[in-house]
Amino acid sequence: MKLEGRVALVTGASRGIGRAVALTLAREGASVAVNYVNGAKEAENVASEIKAMGRRAITVRADVSNQEQVRKMFAEVTQSLGGVDILVNNAGILIPTSLMETTEGDWDRVMAINLRGPFNCTREAAKTMMHKKNGKIVNISSISGLGCAPTGEGAYGCSKAGVIALTSVAAQELGPYGINVNCVAPGWTKTDMTNAKSGAKADEINVRKSGLAAMRRIGEPQDIANVVLFLASDESSFVSGQVVVADGGRMDFVSHA
Ligand code: NAP
Repeated sequence: MKLEGRVALVTGASRGIGRAVALTLAREGASVAVNYVNGAKEAENVASEIKAMGRRAITVRADVSNQEQVRKMFAEVTQSLGGVDILVNNAGILIPTSLMETTEGDWDRVMAINLRGPFNCTREAAKTMMHKKNGKIVNISSISGLGCAPTGEGAYGCSKAGVIALTSVAAQELGPYGINVNCVAPGWTKTDMTNAKSGAKADEINVRKSGLAAMRRIGEPQDIANVVLFLASDESSFVSGQVVVADGGRMDFVSHA
């Protein structure tokens, strides 16, 4: 048990990567707060699975882009489970439009959820963590944030590049308080996000993306959760400010490096 006695808050844990992260941290002994914004039923299902493992879990609704809702979420988690030891900034959205089609509203929405969300949650988590002189923050960026965002991912890629910059600054500023801040940059992973983007062509796109990876497959949410677990555990105690790419060895991205 790597996380016995720890309290973890995973944003966007009702589905996809966040769900896999919440279940993985719980399997290692953590009590988990399952954040969501719309998917109450899905979040309840995740919490039920965690409770069935004999761990504590709550669901907590909050739009991460809203500072007040984030404040209330942390207060609720602290009251129910205790102060947050592990924060996973996972919640995110993709609005797949070209730059010319992207409205100012779309741009602001993507930035608000994908970048202001982690900013809001990091600051709220850090209050407790700085006091405890201990904590782990894991941000979920994307290979699209590494300077190679593909067509249709302008706002998304910029928000995810911002998450990498946020990781670096937070690592510098919070490191002296015993807080590790790291980032995972997943490649194409099978979730609602990638299915929604692909629509009826999902299978075709998945085959194409598989061919671009050295491992010849697309990612599963568990592939990403395994990396998050390492960064959330004491095994990564001397790792901070890093971006771990989990993309099956995307050859098109390697060629850009
Ligand atoms: P997903 O299946 O679409 O799930 C998104 C999650 O975020 C849901 O739990 C959703 O909650 C939550 N969410 C959305 N807006 C929110 C908000 N304003 N406040 C709180 N929660 C919110 O997406 P995913 O593929 O698992 O993606 C998870 C993270 O990985 C994202 O940051 C994404 O950018 C990143 N990522 C994904 C891929 C990929 O290929 N899938 C690749 C690279 C990076 P509700 O259920 O309540 O709507």
